[in-house]
Amino acid sequence: MLNIKKPRGTNDFFYDSSKNLEFIENKIKNIVKLYGYGRIRTPLFEYTELFTRGIGEGTDIVGKEMFTFEDRGGRSLTLRPEGTASVARAYIENSMQNEFAVNKLFYLGTMYRAERPQKGRYREFNQFGAECIGSSSPLIDAEIILLNINILKEFGIDNVNLLINTVGCSKCKPSYNNALKEAIGNKKDELCETCQRRYDINILRILDCKNDRCREIIKDIPKFYDYVCDECKEHFDRLCEELTRIGQSFTVSNTLVRGLDYYTKTAFEVQTDALGAQSAVLGGGRYDNLIGLFNNGKDIPAVGSAMGIERLLIILENQNNIISERLDVFIAAFKETENEVLKIMQKLRANNISCDYGFSAKSIKSQFKYANKRNAKYILVLGEDELKKGMCRLKNMDSTEEKEVSLNDIHSNIEK
Ligand code: AMP
Repeated sequence: MLNIKKPRGTNDFFYDSSKNLEFIENKIKNIVKLYGYGRIRTPLFEYTELFTRGIGEGTDIVGKEMFTFEDRGGRSLTLRPEGTASVARAYIENSMQNEFAVNKLFYLGTMYRAERPQKGRYREFNQFGAECIGSSSPLIDAEIILLNINILKEFGIDNVNLLINTVGCSKCKPSYNNALKEAIGNKKDELCETCQRRYDINILRILDCKNDRCREIIKDIPKFYDYVCDECKEHFDRLCEELTRIGQSFTVSNTLVRGLDYYTKTAFEVQTDALGAQSAVLGGGRYDNLIGLFNNGKDIPAVGSAMGIERLLIILENQNNIISERLDVFIAAFKETENEVLKIMQKLRANNISCDYGFSAKSIKSQFKYANKRNAKYILVLGEDELKKGMCRLKNMDSTEEKEVSLNDIHSNIEK
């Protein structure tokens, strides 16, 4: 016997959990339509340079979380760890800038990161992402935040904490990095080992560290806002104004930098305690310099977000919000009447009625039991005597009402 289990940090979704996933995805698809987004599907794997250059060499994702392998020709490929870099590549590769001045794209799909698995953190997980490319207006930053919060609301998740920050642009980021270096100064040696490395290669990542001592050291660090240029300040002020105007509460978090290098100006994250400990369900920000990487250095402003679908699933399941889709009709037949089953089911399905037959069930009693387990709304019994008259027995499993109906007219007796 082969004893093969699924790889660590992956999930099998079936029956209820897969129905719930589909429910979540369908609802999201309907909501994004209201905001004018169109779906984009990009490959599950890309050339590795896309991520190393796009996300940044000094990030946790590129440094230790990518699933990378070589193709037969020796070129390095990587399973996508996130969606934005692929969307940016696809945008330029397909000249979408010639299509519309502003392109609103969303994706739903699996991402791959070799993280230490735990509840809500997997090596294969699903994300919903929205990317709006072509506008530098803070209005669009506000809209993308509202889109995400409205999605959470639609799922009954009201109690959320929206954190926002400005992380500056290529002009002003270096002066903040220097201020941070100076502020940490001689406490560098007291940082955890990882942060001592981060200090030299990607100092902003220190702000994300969960280590108590590191958190203590960065408690009184300078505020990004005090170091960013006037353009970044204005952008951030306008975003705060827009959110306030619309009645969306938020907290300015000075340490919010997010795990990817490409963010400029706006960074945001939504946390909820519905996941147990306070934790992130989605995040995003502006990335005004990412597209330039694929466009001969010509930047195109953009903003995006990514939401963890499994985290949403956990929240919904904790709320006992299980989606139950019922089978309309379950057919019970005898050996002598089984020949009619497929024909009847063909007709029902042509009338948009879901139905099924036991196929391996034996006695009528066991077929009734199975119909109950399948939570069917009706059970249709094909008895020999009724069949001779062109009839069958239809029982409503909720009201227990039972009647004889014509085989030609079953569908009009089914209440959907
Ligand atoms: P990020 O792409 O890191 O900005 O993450 C955006 C969202 O994706 C997070 O807020 C989580 O909800 C979700 N997410 C990120 N990493 C994982 C993971 N390893 N497993 C499950 N969900 C994740």
